[in-house]
Amino acid sequence: MARVMRYYVSKLFQPQNIVPKNSEVKCNDITSKSQKLMMDMGIIRAANNGFFYMLPLGERALRKLVDVVNEEMHRIDAQKLVLPSLISSTLWKMSGRFDDAAVADELFTLKDRHNKKFVLSPTHEEAVTDLLGSISQLSYRQLPLRLYQITNKFRDEMKPRFGLMRAKEFLMKDLYTFDTSLENAKETYEAVTASYKTIFNRIGVKYVRVAGLTGTMGGSLSHEFHFPSDVGEDNIFVCKICGHGNNAEVFPHTAQSTGKGDVNKCGSCGNSSLSHVQGIEVGHTFLLGTRYTKPLKAQFMQRDGKPDFLQMGCYGIGMTRILAAVVECLSTTSEIRWPLILAPFKVCVIPPKAGSKENEVASGLISSLFHLLDKDPVLADDIIVDDRLELTIGRRLRDTAQVGYPLAVVLGRQTMDQEPLLEVHNFSSNQQVMLSVSDAVQYIVQHTRLEGEPVEQSSRTVHATHG
Ligand SMILES: [Zn+2]
Repeated sequence: MARVMRYYVSKLFQPQNIVPKNSEVKCNDITSKSQKLMMDMGIIRAANNGFFYMLPLGERALRKLVDVVNEEMHRIDAQKLVLPSLISSTLWKMSGRFDDAAVADELFTLKDRHNKKFVLSPTHEEAVTDLLGSISQLSYRQLPLRLYQITNKFRDEMKPRFGLMRAKEFLMKDLYTFDTSLENAKETYEAVTASYKTIFNRIGVKYVRVAGLTGTMGGSLSHEFHFPSDVGEDNIFVCKICGHGNNAEVFPHTAQSTGKGDVNKCGSCGNSSLSHVQGIEVGHTFLLGTRYTKPLKAQFMQRDGKPDFLQMGCYGIGMTRILAAVVECLSTTSEIRWPLILAPFKVCVIPPKAGSKENEVASGLISSLFHLLDKDPVLADDIIVDDRLELTIGRRLRDTAQVGYPLAVVLGRQTMDQEPLLEVHNFSSNQQVMLSVSDAVQYIVQHTRLEGEPVEQSSRTVHATHG
């Protein structure tokens, strides 16, 4: 059996609350519920304005999101790589983006000691296209090619806001696809779209997919994935009849300013009953065609031996932004709620206070509890013990709810009963149940299983215990 890690709240690096004295970030820079909660609970901490320390609990949640995305990318045969963060500005000049004011204003640039200019990349279309262009005799047999990375990106935001949602440094998943024809590239576009739907369904927060502008990225087709939220910075219109959605940006400016025309009508069915929501953009897909492969000369050999330009697509997912966005969408004003799949820990065990009568019987119960839980190493890695025994159970239960662990197991008064009972709190359903140790384990297993995940080992053990 794999070795089981044990985690303790007393050992956790979780500096809570209060903006550090020397920080550039003032209290009134905390502009969203998620930013406040995540800073208060020691998930993230402000570094400079627009930059954050990702603390251990935040890193755990982020790693879980990375796992989901890796799994789904693997399912569509995308291969993971890492591109350099510093890209020669020459490439950005070749694509024309270096001299596009709308892009250039937000670019971090720097020079090396030889006076060579670099871009600290916000996105990697130029870099990956140059990589493929540099391969002589790239053959149609090697296509389609799907390459992605999950790396930190940089953007010199005028106004960093809402914590991780609009930061100057952020983690992004960026996928680049290369096909032999526009038709094939469109099929790839559909495949990636389906993959994105699976990813967002697995995260489990309500989302909408709408048509977007191709903007400074270029290309011919673009869609955005949004979490509806009041702090969302995009205006989304969704048709109540057919479900077709648009980012308001796609409506012609004239129509917007006059209040007439397309803005009031569904672009798909022509109906005029549109609902408006604010959206947090968490994913974006672009069909780029030869927008980058032509200027950067990225070609492949066709079946007939003649060269042609690669047909490209690019696909982003804002990883750190999703972390903030799920907290924004699901939490109350005082308590974080994570989707089960991203919760830093799924279960918090709360033993009795030191010196209490219950404390005398607790250690035996805790051993049998962990004896059962540890039979499932996956679940065991998701359990933290709030061993701050100097604090009351009530206080620790409050902390558990605030930081957003979905389940708490409390060893309270009824552990003294003839048949000792544990209190299991389920914060997502506001449920509280009194259960024997083996029933508690069964409840935990059932309520921490993700959709599609096999209920293994530990539950069989529980059944055996019952039998
Ligand atoms: Zn419609």
